[in-house]
Amino acid sequence: MDLQQTLAREVTITGPALHSAVTTTISISSAPPGSGIVFERTDLPGKPRLKAELESVLDTRRCLVIGTAQWRIATVEHLLAAFHGLGVDNAVVSIDNEELPLGDGSSFYFAQKIQEAGLVTQERPREYLRIKEPLWVEGLVGGNPNLPKAMLIALPGEDLEINYTFTSDHQVTGTQYFHYNLTKSRELFLPEIAPARTIAFREEINYLQSQGLALGGDLNCAVVVGKDQYENELRFPNEIVRHKILDILGDLYLLGPLKGQIFALRSGHALDIELAKKIKERIITTI
Ligand SMILES: [Zn+2]
Repeated sequence: MDLQQTLAREVTITGPALHSAVTTTISISSAPPGSGIVFERTDLPGKPRLKAELESVLDTRRCLVIGTAQWRIATVEHLLAAFHGLGVDNAVVSIDNEELPLGDGSSFYFAQKIQEAGLVTQERPREYLRIKEPLWVEGLVGGNPNLPKAMLIALPGEDLEINYTFTSDHQVTGTQYFHYNLTKSRELFLPEIAPARTIAFREEINYLQSQGLALGGDLNCAVVVGKDQYENELRFPNEIVRHKILDILGDLYLLGPLKGQIFALRSGHALDIELAKKIKERIITTI
């Protein structure tokens, strides 16, 4: 039986956000057992709070956005992945803006700080959602009907295991596959998964910046794929697929702790959320 965990002390993280390039500060503090991950906008009157769960998802197009009809917080996936990977069940994330700092485009930035703060166990068992029958979803990649479809499959399992196959005709990236068992290898999250950065294609960066987006990004906070080669040094030869696993860990943490086998092919945030909804409809909870 695993016990729930929270942070031993508060941590503060400051940095520019990706899309707005505004400098943002978050502080992460401990929270009581059973409270989950709660976000708080300290810049708004009354400091409104919202739990990170499926019902609070507003948008999945470029990043994971949660919020209400009145306010939002964008790019929460890499912080959620850090919580999931390190086993933080309960925390309050206070933020003074509407988008999280990008850090280095991975979870390492957040995960390292949380690890430094240390975790404490709480007097309540962690409850896992368990996938009890095969479930799957499929969809278009980037809304493009000319590309092969994306697919996500969830099967029952004693551990949380994520298998991802990234396929691309792009000569630089090629096809990449990776498997990660969070339950058996939680200690590998920080060195092997958390540092993997998001992918950015050179043409896409040029387009986004012409639209006033991705202003906070630079060459160091993404794996930049140029026409004939990577434009920066990789942290892992298969950094792209490792980051995809990171994104899934973040997205699925909207369900809380989970056990089961996930097989992903070309999927992104939208499909991750669709699968999470399907899992939630048909789950059993155990400790
Ligand atoms: Zn990501």
